[in-house]
Formats: sequence, C-alpha cells, structure tokens
Amino acid sequence: MAKYNPYDNVLETIEAAAKMLSLPRNDYETLKYPERELKVGIPVEMDNGDVRVFEGYRVQHSSLRGPCKGGIRFHPDVEINEVKALAAWMTFKCAVVNIPYGGGKGAVNVDPRTISRAELRRMTRRYTAMILPLIGPEKDIPAPDVNTNEDIMGWIMDTYSMFKGYTVSSVVTGKPIGIGGSLGRSSATGRGVMLITREILHRLGMPVLDTKVAIQGVGKVGGVAASLLAKEGMKVVALSDVSGGIYKEKGLNIEKVMEYVKNGGLLHDYTLEKVEYITNQKLLTLNVDVLIPAALENQINKDLASKIEAKIVVEGANGPTTTEADKILSTKGTIVVPDILANAGGVIVSYFEWVQNIQSLTWDEDEVNRTLEKILIRAFNVVWDKKKEYGSTMRMGAYMVALDKLCDARRIRGIFP
Ligand code: GLU
Repeated sequence: MAKYNPYDNVLETIEAAAKMLSLPRNDYETLKYPERELKVGIPVEMDNGDVRVFEGYRVQHSSLRGPCKGGIRFHPDVEINEVKALAAWMTFKCAVVNIPYGGGKGAVNVDPRTISRAELRRMTRRYTAMILPLIGPEKDIPAPDVNTNEDIMGWIMDTYSMFKGYTVSSVVTGKPIGIGGSLGRSSATGRGVMLITREILHRLGMPVLDTKVAIQGVGKVGGVAASLLAKEGMKVVALSDVSGGIYKEKGLNIEKVMEYVKNGGLLHDYTLEKVEYITNQKLLTLNVDVLIPAALENQINKDLASKIEAKIVVEGANGPTTTEADKILSTKGTIVVPDILANAGGVIVSYFEWVQNIQSLTWDEDEVNRTLEKILIRAFNVVWDKKKEYGSTMRMGAYMVALDKLCDARRIRGIFP
C-alpha cells in the first residue's frame, strides 16, 4: 500500500471544492503549491556533551490574504508532506473564519519527552535562529501545536527579539501572559470545539443535555473541550491519550480526570472511578452522539470509517479523517464538522493576541471569549448556508467558502510580475 500522504488529501479537497464552484484552473492553481519550504538541520549540544542534529521545517503555504500563520509541532514522525498539508490547512482555516492571514506550519523531528528542558530550550532557540529569515510579525507568525507550549513560544519570542535588538512580542502567539500572551488563548481551541459542537446540535435539532460524547485526546484541545462540554451538560463517556482510553457509560467525572492528567497521569492507570479500559481504536467506534478526534491526523481511515457509529464527528485535530474515509462517512450520513472550522478557535485568538501586541493594549478574557464566539459562529453560519446551497458536505461547504475568498484575493492582486 502506498504510504499515506496528507498533502494528496489537501490537493484532492481543493480540486473537489473548485469543481463544485466551477472555478477556472487559473484562479486556484497557485494554492496547490506552497510558496516556500525550508528544511533545516538543528545542531544541539546535549547535556552529556554529545552533539545531536534534529531536522526541522517551516513551510509557508500562502500569504495571499496576509502574513503566514500557523503552529510549530514537535513530533518524532513529522515529515515534509505532513508539514505542507498542515500549512495548507492553515490557509483555508484562516480564510474560512475570515481573519487576515495566510497559512504556514513548522515542525521539528523530536519527541520532547525524551530530552531535558535545557536541551529543549537550546533546540528551540537554534530552530528559531535557523528559520529567522522567514518569520516576523508581518511575514509569518508561529504558534503552539502538538507538543509545543507557552514556554516554547516565549523562547521563540526572546530569540527573535535578541537578533532584532528590541522586543518583538508580535512575532509569535500563544506566549505566556507575562510577555504579551492573550487571556483565553490557551483554552481557545477547546472552547471553539465546544461552541461548534453546541451549534451543530442546535442545527440538527438535537438536545445538548446528556448528549453522549467521546473524545480522542486530553491535551490543549481534547482536554479543554471535555471540561467545557461537561459544563454545558453533555455526557463525556470516553477519553483517551497515548496510553489508551477510558469509558464510562454514565459519563466520566471530567474534573477528576483532568486533574489527574494535569499531574502527569496516564489514562490506562486511571483508577479514581470505575471505568472500562479501551483502545484508541475502540474509542473512535463507540456508539455516541458526538465523536471528537482531537489528537493527530489520519486517525479515521477507510477501514475505520465504516465502523463509526457517532452521528456527528467534530474534528478537533487537523486532518483526522482521510479523504476516502470522508466519502464513506458522507455516504453513511454522518455529519462531519471539518477541522478548518471546528478547531479554528486557536488561531482566531492567536489573531487577537497579535492585534493586542501590535496595538500595545490588552483585552479582558470576557472580550476575548465573546469575540471568539462571534467570529466562529458567523463562520459556522456561512459554511452551513454554503453547504445547503450546494447540497454538499460541511467540509466542502467550508472549502468553498475559503476558496471563494482566496480566489477573490488572487484575482484582485493578480500574479507578479
Ligand atoms: N496550531 C493551531 C492550529 O492548528 C493554532 C495555530 C495558530 O494559532 O497560529 O490551528
């Protein structure tokens, strides 16, 4: 079997959406190619004196609608096609929620759990130095993604600022609050997933109270979404992490689980309440109302898709569903709320952070959350209308909305020279 290439997924989706809109090829051809791809070798002096070289990337997919925007991922399996796909998804994500950014993504081939904090810091600083020609508040603005956090964003900000000779807080988002981070940023993606889940239930005339939800992932996205969904009265019956999953038909005690996870506990050792231990695979096929994959891409493939029992899939992760699986789900009548809408809360609040930095002022958390909800629900409505107009899936609706905006910008700007 050919190796799964997520960038092929992206190309197929662009083609399909362009075809539905009957767009001339000239309008969207450039979107099939990232503008820039940088690969770097990152030498690090390890604590024991050994030198190790990590491979890193920064891909700028598009700057058509504004500076490139997108996270940096630290993961031992990253490769260029994944980074290209992630960068392209950012372009479409920013377009569909209508914030003035293009798309980019960075990654380093490392499992941060296997190196010390000092090694991680040196690695991050050297990686920043290596991608320095590409990034900047008007060019390309990194942010957290899988296995990266506020501390890492702080090191990126400091490294960039040292090279410039003055403090540039707007070069990166998802920073600690003390150096220009935004209130509400760390929970923004999970909050967005909650808002979108609530909205789709309303649209489908399904009750929110006691709705059964299974979530793959307990990190910044899945963990926060679990807490907020439980607060809304939904019943989170299953959660999973790298070690596996836990299931409780009556609904898990999310506060307890999250406290346990925060203290570094792995779910397969969770004994604070009576639960059934399940595999990640099993979690995805549970009989629930809403399934939220909030871990890595390529989780719902064509073999798994036919076994999915959830009525609604809300994509908290980027690219969790392969194109083949997507077709199976659509034929089965499963509603899929696509990643570029469902997990856009993070980049929306990143945008607020960047705006606050540039204006040298701060918003209170209430303003952040209110404005996030306004932008996200507005985007949901636009996508829903597009889906209805074309009788398409929500994913196609979202891509059509984004493509319209991107192609408009392309037509207005033209091609240089
Ligand atoms: N990594 C997040 C995403 O995939 C956030 C990106 C950002 O805030 O720039 O959307």
